[in-house]
Amino acid sequence: MLTYTVSEITAIIGAGILQKAEDTPIEYLLLDSRKLLFPATSLFFALDGLHRSGKSFIDELYHKQVRNFVVGNEVSASFIAAYPDANFLAVEDVLVSLQRLSAFHRNRFDIPVIGITGSNGKTIVKEWLNQLLGNTYNIVRSPKSYNSQVGVPLSVWQMNPVHTLGIFEAGISRPGEMQRLQPIIRPNTGIVTFMGEAHAEGFTGMKEKIWEKLQLFRTTKKLIYCADDRLLHETLIEFRTQVNPQLELFCWAKGSPADLPISQVERRTDGSIVHTQLGNTAFHFFIPFTDEASVYNAITCCAVMLSMNIPPSSIPVWMSELKPVEMRLELKQGINQCAIINDSYSADVNSLGIALDFLQQQQQHTKKTVILSDLLQSGLPDEVLCSKIASILRHRKLHRFIGIGPVLSSHARLFDGVGKLDFFESTEAFLSNIHAMQFHDETILLKGARIFQFEKISKLLEQKLHETVLEINLNALRSNLKIYRNLLQKDVKLMVMVKAFSYGSGSFEIASLLQHAGADYLAVAYTDEGVELRKAGIRLPIMVMNTTMAGFDNLLHYQLEPEIYSFQILESFRYYLRQRQITRYPVHIKLDTGMHRLGFVEADIQKLSELLKDDDSFTIKSVFSHLVGSENEAHDAFTAQQAASFTQMADALESATKTPFIRHMANTSAIHRHPGLQMGMVRLGIGLYGVDDRLPLQNVTTLKTTISQLKHIRAGDSVGYSRRGVVSKDAVIATVRIGYADGYSRIFGNGNGKMLVNGELAPVIGNVCMDMTMLDITGIYANEGDEVIVFGEELPVKNLAQWAGTIPYEILTNVSQRVKRVYFEE
Ligand SMILES: *Cc1c(COP(=O)(O)O)cnc(C)c1O
Repeated sequence: MLTYTVSEITAIIGAGILQKAEDTPIEYLLLDSRKLLFPATSLFFALDGLHRSGKSFIDELYHKQVRNFVVGNEVSASFIAAYPDANFLAVEDVLVSLQRLSAFHRNRFDIPVIGITGSNGKTIVKEWLNQLLGNTYNIVRSPKSYNSQVGVPLSVWQMNPVHTLGIFEAGISRPGEMQRLQPIIRPNTGIVTFMGEAHAEGFTGMKEKIWEKLQLFRTTKKLIYCADDRLLHETLIEFRTQVNPQLELFCWAKGSPADLPISQVERRTDGSIVHTQLGNTAFHFFIPFTDEASVYNAITCCAVMLSMNIPPSSIPVWMSELKPVEMRLELKQGINQCAIINDSYSADVNSLGIALDFLQQQQQHTKKTVILSDLLQSGLPDEVLCSKIASILRHRKLHRFIGIGPVLSSHARLFDGVGKLDFFESTEAFLSNIHAMQFHDETILLKGARIFQFEKISKLLEQKLHETVLEINLNALRSNLKIYRNLLQKDVKLMVMVKAFSYGSGSFEIASLLQHAGADYLAVAYTDEGVELRKAGIRLPIMVMNTTMAGFDNLLHYQLEPEIYSFQILESFRYYLRQRQITRYPVHIKLDTGMHRLGFVEADIQKLSELLKDDDSFTIKSVFSHLVGSENEAHDAFTAQQAASFTQMADALESATKTPFIRHMANTSAIHRHPGLQMGMVRLGIGLYGVDDRLPLQNVTTLKTTISQLKHIRAGDSVGYSRRGVVSKDAVIATVRIGYADGYSRIFGNGNGKMLVNGELAPVIGNVCMDMTMLDITGIYANEGDEVIVFGEELPVKNLAQWAGTIPYEILTNVSQRVKRVYFEE
């Protein structure tokens, strides 16, 4: 391990010394206070986030024993006076100094380093090269897809003398960014993966974007790419002439001249065979994948290996053993109300940290368990590695820890204080004891190196799924949340609507994420929904929109904040509170400015003011109203009228009660269409779940099912109840495992709806049944068991809404509770 002292780092990044304390060695670069593991040897870079300055975390970290900080020049002597025995390094730009430190570190190694850029497939190519070259090299690589301005420095910082090859990916979204990443990675070998049209925004065009990405290769010796992308090829030739004449190009292609010409890709049911030519010798290899993207990425990997002088004879064997890259952490329902996080992505110390973070965010069970195998290829002596793992685990409050493998087992004594302990020599030894171990009501993180075959454990712990699932992409949700946050004016609070199971996508799973991501408020429709969230450990304030007298006990017991929308509910709740001598209970006053659903109208304000004036039963947390047509230009005049009427009513209430409260009326569409109506808070709903064409949102939910049977039928035959689906020609019919009881409406019957079968749209034939639907897949290649997309990224909910003559809200919330939800992070 290479370490640096604080004074060395000061010199490397050219920092001024604001305050000097002990000159400690630094091992960890810390950017996120939640990821703190080793306070004594961490250096915190106070990077400003969207909503908090980096500086604002210093107090918390100092109290957790962090003593080394890099801060911006603006930090004053009086601010640091409160932290006497800490080092404070002052720099002009905190991010630049992080990048400079990492670039310095990189320069201390002269091992081969591969740099990967492109639009799609960077992480897959990196992970596959890791699988393919793992026996030849001791590899250091980006954890997950750490490829950003901060991800790259952190990835490169992991390099240490045991490594013999580095593989790092770099992604950019704006001009100028690659210039900054280049000196940090400084690749000798470069790879451009599929460029595609993805994310062209942020650039004036495709060419500018390619040119910018190529900046990573300013000093690179060899570059691997696909010459079928003509624009890429031409831009590369230009780049070589103008910027890096040393650059040797090595390309593969199907339809253009190439160093590695691909003559044919043969599809089989179990994989693909790629035929190519090496010099004058024909050469082929098999990969266990059939999709286009996998073939593309595998050929790229093959080209990389050839360019690294790996003997061609080893390539086919390794290629045939390629494993899918599970890049996501999945949260699944397990036996006995357990939740299972299965992380088979990789097994090293860094990714253990990432997985534990994900475990920590889960609020549904207080009991948390980790099942971990020996970590391989760490380059550290067993004893050191085990103390490191134990120390990481000790920082999280685990209920129990189960270590599997000879190394962990023989170092069991190092794990004191981690939780309840069990160790097993092998996965088999654990499996033969699993029934005695009694897993229930806990969240279990499973993390094992491939050879330990943890899939055998997950199979036993996971609940059997009805093969129709609703997948929820938590990263996409987070990204959408960020997009809306960026639209908020200063100091505007964010309430997120998680009513109706968060628009169908889940309850505590989504609320946990929102709580962690810093939402200010949650809102549900009914008291029961709020109770569920509290039981799952959600601590955010929760507004309940539709309260009834029967629910008062639960409101109080679970600290839920009711919406007061009528005199009747106001009086009865006040009576209830007074009887129990409760004062200042938080409530929200709903005003009706045109929706005519719930709320006080203008004529009520006088009386309402009187009632609230000298009353101490309530604390009015907020006063709000709902817009009826914020998404539609045609209603803009009405929206303005609603806003005016709201302001007038709220003003009157405020002058009567003489206490300030939050005002809010903006829903999703109003957040960006009427920024002037953001007031004190906004209420984000459908946009969080990815539905709003006006913003670059990511798809969050995917409803998937599978084919249970294929039928070949004759012209004139009919399909389904009442003989509604008659075919005029011979046809192939696929029966899929979803019906109206799952929320797939009968309206989609008889060609009104379509599903995606292996990338092609297939119409529904005949009536939709209760648990099944038949598709006409004539001409589409498919097998029994194949996955079918009902809606998702490639088939937006919006289209289904159009077919059914409804709105996306209804399609999303219709997905019935019988359909299992699976949550994942990429
Ligand atoms: C559902 C709801 C929202 C959110 O509306 P979206 O259009 O989904 O953003 C906001 N306010 C109230 C009162 C709601 O009931």
